[in-house]
Amino acid sequence: MSSTQTAIPSGPLNRRASRRVLVMHGQRKIWVGGDAPVVVQSMTNTDTANVIETAIQIKELARAGSELVRLTVDRPEAAAAVPYIREQLDKMEIDVPLVGDFHYNGHTLLNDYPECAKALSKYRINPGNVGKGAKRDSQFAQMIEVAARYDKPVRIGVNWGSLDQALLARIMDENAGRAEPWSAQAVMYEALITSAIENAVRAEELGLGRDKIILSCKVSGVQDLIAVYRELAKRCDYPLHLGLTEAGMGSKGIVASTAALSVLLQEGIGDTIRISLTPEPGGDRTKEVVVGQEILQTMGLRKFTPMVIACPGCGRTTSTTFQELADNIQTYLRDQMPEWKKTYPGVEAMNVAVMGCIVNGPGESKHANIGISLPGTGESPAAPVFVDGAKFATLRGERIVEEFQEIVLNYVKKNYSKEYV
Ligand code: SF4
Repeated sequence: MSSTQTAIPSGPLNRRASRRVLVMHGQRKIWVGGDAPVVVQSMTNTDTANVIETAIQIKELARAGSELVRLTVDRPEAAAAVPYIREQLDKMEIDVPLVGDFHYNGHTLLNDYPECAKALSKYRINPGNVGKGAKRDSQFAQMIEVAARYDKPVRIGVNWGSLDQALLARIMDENAGRAEPWSAQAVMYEALITSAIENAVRAEELGLGRDKIILSCKVSGVQDLIAVYRELAKRCDYPLHLGLTEAGMGSKGIVASTAALSVLLQEGIGDTIRISLTPEPGGDRTKEVVVGQEILQTMGLRKFTPMVIACPGCGRTTSTTFQELADNIQTYLRDQMPEWKKTYPGVEAMNVAVMGCIVNGPGESKHANIGISLPGTGESPAAPVFVDGAKFATLRGERIVEEFQEIVLNYVKKNYSKEYV
């Protein structure tokens, strides 16, 4: 090796410098921006007017790890329900801050339902859906005044599906006057960014503190999102909420969100994220929380749940034991986390390896805190278990799954109990 070679750098670029915004409920404080960790948030899909159903879904999202939960406040019945939803959550000791999503009639609802305005910890205002013509400015001002009155932060959330048409027309006119007009795509990017920043400046003029404003400019194309946020990040220091809007269903939604957000997060852009997955019919809403956490954890930006490293399996793994064990242990670890977080601090940094055969099994297992190398086809029916790099036990027979789970639990108790740490 040449002596002039330098070590290969690793990790994301430094986070972009931004202000910090505090979103809180009671004693629960969530910082967004500055040097705070990137926050994971989610959104309910229940009818907000249904207090019990909405409170249950928020509880599930919070238990899955959502640090902020947004709910739509679309009509008087929904606004009236918000304080009761908050009350139910408080009774269940779920202190996740709630964010109200307002479109069209937010000015009326926030003024007519002060208990709703107070129960929410943050408001999301879409400047494209505030009103038209002369009414627009006054309706926007009414919402900002309520936020300032109750000391609530606001996300000015622009979305290309509901872009302020008057502003777009103005940007198009400006473009027509250019010697070399920009492409329609560049005009759209400019309109999104201008809408976010101009409305943030307007909110400040109306009396909202600079440390109360978060911006987002959501689009549904990966390259569009990256281009818009790179530019937005250059032009302002407000904290930024990232998300690919209408990401879609299943693997397409996950892949598109991951592709877009990873590029931006790696460049230090983004202070809070939401993964807008369309659930399968009857699907689990908490999936969007899990995906958000996994993006941050696999990028090395945060730790939420012990990671299971599993090989993909191949022709050497002809039984399903290996897949079952990997799935079982991942589900087990995730299910334990709401309690383990309190009892075993630091456990989220643990790595568990589940490997399918002798080829990479022992090597990968030794790198993990705990690893198991299952027997591949034709290998002797024994599964060596490694703990902190050393052979710990060999499991055999029908109860490998249960016995391995027991070893994991004992390891957690021994290494992460508060009295040992
Ligand atoms: S560890 Fe073994 S079973 Fe797993 S992918 Fe590699 S060769 Fe296949």
